[in-house]
Amino acid sequence: MAGLAAAARARELGKTPVVLEKGTRPGGSMLLSSGVVWRHRSLEDFRAECPSGDPALQTRIVEELDDALAWLESLGAEPVARVTGNPLTVGKRFDARELTDVLLRAAGDVRLGEPFRHAAILATGGFGARLARERGLLLRANPWSEGDGLDYALARGASLTAGLNEFYGRALPSGVDDREYVSAAQVYAQHALVLDDEGRDLGGAAWHESDLVQRLPGGRAWYVGDARARRQSVRDRTVAELVGAARAAGGDVRASEELPFTLPESPKLVEPPFVAVRVRAAVTHTIGGLRIDDRARVLDGDGHAVPGLHAAGADAGGIFTGGYGSGLAAALVFGRIAAETAQR
Ligand SMILES: Cc1cc2nc3c(=O)[nH]c(=O)nc-3n(C[C@H](O)[C@H](O)[C@H](O)COP(=O)(O)OP(=O)(O)OC[C@H]3O[C@@H](n4cnc5c(N)ncnc54)[C@H](O)[C@@H]3O)c2cc1C
Repeated sequence: MAGLAAAARARELGKTPVVLEKGTRPGGSMLLSSGVVWRHRSLEDFRAECPSGDPALQTRIVEELDDALAWLESLGAEPVARVTGNPLTVGKRFDARELTDVLLRAAGDVRLGEPFRHAAILATGGFGARLARERGLLLRANPWSEGDGLDYALARGASLTAGLNEFYGRALPSGVDDREYVSAAQVYAQHALVLDDEGRDLGGAAWHESDLVQRLPGGRAWYVGDARARRQSVRDRTVAELVGAARAAGGDVRASEELPFTLPESPKLVEPPFVAVRVRAAVTHTIGGLRIDDRARVLDGDGHAVPGLHAAGADAGGIFTGGYGSGLAAALVFGRIAAETAQR
């Protein structure tokens, strides 16, 4: 998203940008996403959710997302919802395909199947594909974000942020097709017991559950729910429907009697039958990345700007460190900022 947003903004500013896209289709992970572009309600909330992130970068998202959303609408992107459905956040939901098409048109010259060799603005989506491979986790994102932007910037003296091991994670029932990345995600740890392979309780999760997914031992767990849990809703679907989606996606869904261990006692397991879903941790995008300032300039180890080099989206680290936030919002806000700084 960040590259298309940057190009669209640069064109508005009278430039003639070229977007070089390594993938065989445009839109990166944005095209696969739920399309909810959101922010925490205040900087204080953002700081509490992502305590190790850079307050200067977080401030720009809090202060500029609403204008950036209005800009998206001015380009022709019509929100499908004007609320996120989550009381902790504000933002809008777009149809990911339509959002991609609108930004593509506004970006102008987008060349598919062409990895960049030189760039003023890096927006390669971080290194989720590389991290997933190295750690033996599933990938729940576009397959092209291998860290090419980071490697390019490092060779030019850039420095990296903390949190290089962190990722926005989701539990998937198996290696599902990319059209099922949203629908098959198992996001109900608040209602279920989450157990490791020996049947040990892995504890609770934050509302977004990305914290839990990152600490699943070996990237694997069992989500075990009772009948009461399956009647609970997570946003617009019941847990029973999410379990059904896991089964439909070819996941390992079984009666708890068929588990290779005895279930621990838990207030979450009261009303039988108990159903277990095998889940695996999947990387959506990385959290650590290139160090940038609040003008999207890539910084070296001394905190000086690397001349002529900017980064946005998941290539830029230091925004959500220690927590979780909207990758689409970061890509949109810093994509626009990168274009403005680069043209100056
Ligand atoms: C299933 C799913 C659901 C999601 N839902 C949400 C949501 O509702 N809300 C939200 O905020 N976020 C969501 N996200 C995350 C969001 O999609 C990402 O945070 C966002 O797309 C990151 O933007 P980006 O520009 O950094 O990366 P991308 O959108 O992935 O774009 C990076 C682009 O760089 C290209 N690239 C990589 N290497 C090179 C190279 N060497 N040369 C040229 N091009 C290259 C890639 O092919 C890709 O097209 C979701 C993601 C997924 C997968």
